Amino acid sequence: IVLCDAEGKPRRLAGSLADITEGKVRDPLTGLPNRLLFEEKVERALGAARSGNCHSAVLFLDLDKFKIINDSLGHDAGDLLLCEVARRLLNCVRHMEQSADGDLEVCVARHGGDEFTVLIHNMRTPHDSHTLAGAIIAALSEPFQLRVHEVSIGVSIGIAFCSQTVSHPLDLISQADTAMYCAKTSGRGRYRIYDPEMQIVAATRLALENDVRTAIKSDQFHVVYQPIISLKTGQIESFEALSRWQHPQGASIGPDIFVPILESLGLVDQLGEHVLKVAGQQIERWNEARDHRHPLSITVNCSTLEFNQPHFSRDLLKRITKAGVNPRTLRLEVTESALMENPESARKIIEELREFGIKVGLDDFGTGYSSLAYLHRLPLDLLKIDKSFVHAMRNGNEGYEIIRTIVSLAKGLNLDVVAEGVETLEQHNLLTELGCTHAQGFLYSKPLDACDMTQVLASKQHLIPMLHQATASLSDRTNQEVEALLDSLSELTSLSSERADLCIPMIDR
Ligand code: C2E
Ligand code: CA
Ligand code: CA
Repeated sequence: IVLCDAEGKPRRLAGSLADITEGKVRDPLTGLPNRLLFEEKVERALGAARSGNCHSAVLFLDLDKFKIINDSLGHDAGDLLLCEVARRLLNCVRHMEQSADGDLEVCVARHGGDEFTVLIHNMRTPHDSHTLAGAIIAALSEPFQLRVHEVSIGVSIGIAFCSQTVSHPLDLISQADTAMYCAKTSGRGRYRIYDPEMQIVAATRLALENDVRTAIKSDQFHVVYQPIISLKTGQIESFEALSRWQHPQGASIGPDIFVPILESLGLVDQLGEHVLKVAGQQIERWNEARDHRHPLSITVNCSTLEFNQPHFSRDLLKRITKAGVNPRTLRLEVTESALMENPESARKIIEELREFGIKVGLDDFGTGYSSLAYLHRLPLDLLKIDKSFVHAMRNGNEGYEIIRTIVSLAKGLNLDVVAEGVETLEQHNLLTELGCTHAQGFLYSKPLDACDMTQVLASKQHLIPMLHQATASLSDRTNQEVEALLDSLSELTSLSSERADLCIPMIDR
């Protein structure tokens, strides 16, 4: 407050001070020390490490799968989970303190989001930090009860030791963070000790992340198409749109590399929007040119993170309208993890999508942790058998039995079933024999850009494996199916004499 004299001239400032340190250095949600206080403690530990020979380490923890839970069950559930994680961490630390001698000091802090840090100062041996990391991993792998939901997460941990060469607390924390990143990429749910070579991995990753960020802004992603064939008629029914990244420095990079990065950067829905627009417009073009009774559909992959975003179906519909795509020609493929995290909300989303005529398929079936109990409650249109099963299949072996079981399950639930990764005529024949309704794979066509795929559409080359096999089983088919086959044959014979040679004996049969 300004205090003035009788003439109104400012003479003095009066003020008061309050110590609000406690409120500024604790995380309001969990009550744990925050980053600031933690750094201060690390600084003290580093000082001690420089002057004497004590063992101290920083553990950097990042929860696995937290985002999925936060996105699908809501922030309240996420908050509850973080508080319970904090409680379990303090428990682990208490156990460690009880079994150690008096000098040990441990501090658990919340770094931010789903990241926590632990400082262990004055350990007996560096190995004590491994023991603590192991105990934390075990404690956090037990399921959590969040009101009515039971959820499982995990944690990845990086460990870095105080040493003479580290002078700043942020450097030590960043080393532990780098080690955590390596733990995460080497399979989650484990801990790794910092090693300077990890810096190279981290730098490469950082560069790649920046490139991906630029790529999405400057349209470096393009779409290739792979046909999905009806095993009954041999006709193409749909195309799966698969993304490719043409890196400015040359190589074409596959989605297995860039999709997880886009997910971690929170940018995967921008890719989704781009693919939907490009592929949706392409399918409209193909359908216009074909002028066929049954329009082709386009199959688009949807990442778990996209699917679990609030208002997913509403936003998707907006995008479809904006891109001028007919929702009836759209199929979405989601993986088991997207549906099983929260089957009830998944069921609602699928129902909403189907009201607009969009079909939904379950991708990579058999590789995730689908609960069969939920499967029949989800209004799906198709199951896609993962290519690993198709590749393992031989007549009568275990892989064959697995596929037989999936096909009969799909039949029972009234779903189409697509086998992916079909590469050989033998696989094609076995799948047809088992009653699989659709197939996709290099045998029919590799994923190709729109221009090359237009040629495949015209050449009908995808029909050849089909026709080889089809004539052997004409008697198993309905009249309508035989007619469709004959159509396919005549289409092929009219294309080239070489193909006619191949087809005429079949027509004879
Ligand atoms: P997916 O959905 O399971 O796609 C099938 C993958 O199998 C594709 O790999 C395809 O090129 C490959 N493939 C097809 N036929 C054969 C075959 O006969 N043999 C073998 N060995 N492989 C075959 P790709 O294109 O590398 O895609 C990998 C995954 O990336 C996809 O797996 C999909 O989950 C994801 N993905 C691709 N594009 C997108 C996208 O635009 N958005 C999202 N969210 N994910 C995408
Ligand atoms: Ca797929
Ligand atoms: Ca798949």
